[in-house]
Amino acid sequence: MKKKVCTLLCIVLGIILLTSCSDGQSDEKSNAIESTYGIAHQDAEDLINPERNYLIVVNDENEYDFNGDYNKALQPDLVYFPNAVDGDIMASEKAAYLAFTSLQYDLKTNDNIEVALYDGYRTAKDQEYINSLFDDGSSNVVGSNRVGFSEHHTGLLLDIVIWYSEDGKNYEWYSPTHERIEAFSDFQTVFKKMLDYGFIMRYPDDKSEITGMKDHEFEIRFVGSAAMAHEIADKGLCLEEYVAGEQ
Ligand SMILES: [Zn+2]
Repeated sequence: MKKKVCTLLCIVLGIILLTSCSDGQSDEKSNAIESTYGIAHQDAEDLINPERNYLIVVNDENEYDFNGDYNKALQPDLVYFPNAVDGDIMASEKAAYLAFTSLQYDLKTNDNIEVALYDGYRTAKDQEYINSLFDDGSSNVVGSNRVGFSEHHTGLLLDIVIWYSEDGKNYEWYSPTHERIEAFSDFQTVFKKMLDYGFIMRYPDDKSEITGMKDHEFEIRFVGSAAMAHEIADKGLCLEEYVAGEQ
């Protein structure tokens, strides 16, 4: 009998804990967003590192140069912060991060749209781990997600999500897809406004033959200046095409 009471108590306690955890998670989400807003007034272009090539292209044909150190390639230009979706610690190149938080603040205050990051900088080990989750063992991970060929190694490629409700009731974080961007004006606003902060859509649907990446509209790329981002978008180019034209 005593055991039964104890079991019941454990279940009740478990439920209470679970409920408070889910509250805690939404708190964490808003805390993460609040903390990123806190530094949004700084100008990202002030943090540009003159030594860095913000137009670096990493793809199937252009391997990232780790310079012999797989885990410290971008130090000390990285900033670490919790991602807003699950609170996991992620990193980004610091000017890119500040540019993103400025974009985030602008969208929140002027358009009532919330955007967040859920992935950024990856070491070789990070990429190896991620690939191990998707590799079914029959074939290896292909294309630009191979270790060394992922633009996430640069810290300039960020994966975004948008807080949205498709039915006007249930809100959740949505990954931008080309269907959603076409259908929802909030998504269009995000992709239009990001140009003002130096971001482009890295893998447009109609450029997949060149970029080697399909259905990756959720990845945005910091190119170092708003003027350049606008130029790339105005000319209808992907990063590969723009960089090839520059040379
Ligand atoms: Zn990504």
